[in-house]
Amino acid sequence: MRSEPLQPLIFDIHRYALDDGPGIRTTVFFKGCPLACVWCHNPEGVSATPELYYHLQKCIGCGDCAAVCKRNAITSEAGQVVIDRRRCNDCGDCTGVCPATALVIKGRYYPVDELVPTLCQDKRFFDHSGGGVTFSGGEPTLHPDYLEQVLVQLKALGIHVVLQTCGHFDWPRFHHQLLPYVDLIYFDIKAIDVHRHHQWTGRSNATILTNLARLAASAPEKLVCSVPLVDWFTAREDNVRAIAGHIGAMVGVPYRLNAYHPGAIIKNAALGKTPPAALHQQILSPADYRRIVKTFDAIVSHSRQKRDQS
Ligand code: SF4
Ligand code: SF4
Repeated sequence: MRSEPLQPLIFDIHRYALDDGPGIRTTVFFKGCPLACVWCHNPEGVSATPELYYHLQKCIGCGDCAAVCKRNAITSEAGQVVIDRRRCNDCGDCTGVCPATALVIKGRYYPVDELVPTLCQDKRFFDHSGGGVTFSGGEPTLHPDYLEQVLVQLKALGIHVVLQTCGHFDWPRFHHQLLPYVDLIYFDIKAIDVHRHHQWTGRSNATILTNLARLAASAPEKLVCSVPLVDWFTAREDNVRAIAGHIGAMVGVPYRLNAYHPGAIIKNAALGKTPPAALHQQILSPADYRRIVKTFDAIVSHSRQKRDQS
């Protein structure tokens, strides 16, 4: 088995999640992603390394963080904290003195024998609700050796597993190490046009669409296509139509359309990153969301009827 280049870091473990698969779930968010989507709603998952995260709303302006920082990366004047990210090395010293937990380091390594018992804490709720554990991120498939060890143990305990993926993964490793232990795969499709995909995510979608076709052929019962609807980006009419046509061409693969939520602006600021100017416009109205879903369903249904008749 080949070793992985980086120790996998987790930036959040969310218990009682209701939107990440069937039933009550615990969702594990990995750091590190091969894509860098303009609208990414989990920007703390893009970088694979630890990052200092500053909750402005929690800060009480005491200045203790500035006093402890050896690199003089924090200034605190009149209750206003400013972090110089060029000086900060994400050492985390300031997080230990913050009385308001306004400063935290996102990204911690969990040994497998610590993560599995943590995830099993809510097994009673999983069993009662038909839930389980969901792996998300970031991109969980970046860590196949680590994830395989976790999955083997979860499956031995009879825990249902969902994997959320951007689809940009190494197929042989995914197929051999992860697919046998996963019950459902939420596979993101953001654009069919290769240039547009590159423009929005920083990468071509060639590998993603190839992996999607492989998965549809080898394990269609595990596949659910997941389409993020981001106003001004993925929710554009021509993009929606292209994705619907692509899904409609696959035999019986279910899909879900996810309305974008705007937490990315606050999260980017907390990481010292500047979100793209268009982000504030990316909230679909309920009426637009319903219209897009109707169009999407109609195209998929039409494609499938045509295929069945031919
Ligand atoms: S993480 Fe370390 S270097 Fe960065 S602001 Fe805090 S104490 Fe300073
Ligand atoms: S220690 Fe925490 S609460 Fe105090 S100024 Fe720094 S970030 Fe704000």
